[in-house]
Amino acid sequence: MGGLFGVVSKDDCVVDLFYGTDYHSHLGTCRGGLAVLDGREFTRHIHDISNAQFRSKFEGDIQTMRGTSGIGVISDNESQPLLINSHLGAYAIATVGIITNIDQLAREAFRKRTTHFSEMSGGGINPSELVATLINEETTFEDGIRNAQTRIEGSCSMLLLTDKGVYAARDRLGRTPIVLGKKNDAYAATFETSAFPNLGYEVERYLGPAETVLITPDGIEQVNVPGDSMQICAFLWVYYGFPASSYEGLSVEGARYRCGAALARKDTVKVDLVAGVPDSGTGHAIGYANEARVPYGRPFAKYTPTWPRSFMPQIQEVRDLVARMKLLPIQELIQGRRLLFCEDSIVRGTQLRDTVQRLYDCGALEVHMRPACPPLIYGCKFLHFSRSRSDLDLAGRRTVKELEGDANAHLDEYADPKSERYAAMVDRIRQRLSLTTLQYQELGDLVEAIGLPKEKLCTYCWDGCEGCSPQQEIWT
Ligand code: SF4
Repeated sequence: MGGLFGVVSKDDCVVDLFYGTDYHSHLGTCRGGLAVLDGREFTRHIHDISNAQFRSKFEGDIQTMRGTSGIGVISDNESQPLLINSHLGAYAIATVGIITNIDQLAREAFRKRTTHFSEMSGGGINPSELVATLINEETTFEDGIRNAQTRIEGSCSMLLLTDKGVYAARDRLGRTPIVLGKKNDAYAATFETSAFPNLGYEVERYLGPAETVLITPDGIEQVNVPGDSMQICAFLWVYYGFPASSYEGLSVEGARYRCGAALARKDTVKVDLVAGVPDSGTGHAIGYANEARVPYGRPFAKYTPTWPRSFMPQIQEVRDLVARMKLLPIQELIQGRRLLFCEDSIVRGTQLRDTVQRLYDCGALEVHMRPACPPLIYGCKFLHFSRSRSDLDLAGRRTVKELEGDANAHLDEYADPKSERYAAMVDRIRQRLSLTTLQYQELGDLVEAIGLPKEKLCTYCWDGCEGCSPQQEIWT
C-alpha cells in the first residue's frame, strides 16, 4: 500500500521527518524516500528497503540533510519522492495509491507531444511522475491537484514539497487517510496517527476526501474543499493499519476488539484457549476472549528480532518460508487443547494451512478459525493490496471456481452469508485448511465494529460494492 509523512517547521525538521516516515514501515516493503527543502535547495535520498529496515538505510543520510520542510514515503513499488522542475517551480512529490487508468492518462499526455516520462525504474511509468504531469497541466498547484484527482481512476493521496510549504491532498474518495498534526513550532501530515505521539504532535484534524491543504510554518490553509462522498478502506481497521492509529477518529485497536467481540457473540463452540494468528489477529482475539470469557494465550510466539513485520519477499515460496520461520510454537499451550484462533482475514490460505498443521503436529485436539472479515471474493483495484496479485489468489474466489467451474458464477450468492452457496464455499475452505470449524465475520458486524456508516466505507473486497462510480460528480 505505502505510507506518507510530511512536516513543516520553524526549525530543522529532519529528525521528525525521519522517525515519522519510519513509523510507516509496515505499509510498504520496497522503497523508502525522504526529501527536504532548505531555502531553495532540495536534498533527496531513496533506498531499496526490501532487505533492510528503513532506519538502517537512512540514518547515515540524515546526518547530511538540513531543511525546515520535508516529505517522506514508504512505497510498495516505485522510487519516490520525485524531484520535478516545472512552470509551477521546483517541487518534490510522493504519492500513495494505484492509478488504474495509468496507460490511458499516459497516452493522453503523449498526444500533446510535449511530455515524456523519465522515471522508468520499475519497467513502467512511475505513477508519481504521471501525477506530476497532471498537476503541471494547470496554472496553480491547487488546480493541478484537482486535475489529477478528477482524472485518476483508482486512488491517489499525495504530498508536494514546494517553496510555499507542503501541499497535502487526500485521494478523491478518501480510500487512504491523511491526518494533520500540530506541536509547538511545527505542523505535520501523516497516514498513520501512530507516528504522532512520540514526536510530540497532537491530531489537529482528519482531511476530508479530496481535500487539499497547504501547510506552512504559520499554520494550515485549506486550498481545495472536501467532496461529499467517502469510501475509506475498511481493511485499514482489519489488517493494514497500525494498532495505535486512528482513522476518522476511530481507533484501529478498538475496532479489532469490537470485531472479535462480534465474532464471539455469534459463536457456540466450546474451547480451552483463544489466540490470534500473529500479529494482526491479536487484537481481534483479545476482543473475542474478553467477550467469550475464555482465556487468551499465545500458542505461537513471533521471532521479531530478525524478522520484522515489514519484511515481505516478493516470491511466494520465500514468503511462505519466512512466515513459517517467524512463528515458534509453544507446545505446552497447544497439546491436548481445543484452540480457537482469530485471523485478520484468509487471503490465499496457503500459510494458514501450514500453521494449522503445525498445531495438530504439536497435539492440538481441535483448531477453530474465526477470520475478522467475510471471505475475500473481489481483488482490490483501489490500492496496492500486496497480499494478492489476482482474484484467483483469493481463497474465496478460487473456491468459487472449484465449485462452479467458473470463477465469476453467482458471486452475489457467494457473498451472501445466508445462501447455500456461501455455506458450501466456507465448508470447502474449512476442509482445505483442515479446520474443525470455520466461521467468518459478517459484513454488517464488521461495519458496526469499525463504527462508520457503510456508505462511507469501501467494502469492495467482500461484496463487490463500488460505492460512487468514478464518473460520479463528488464536488457540489
Ligand atoms: S477493495 Fe478492499 S483493500 Fe481495496 S480499498 Fe476497498 S476495502 Fe480496501
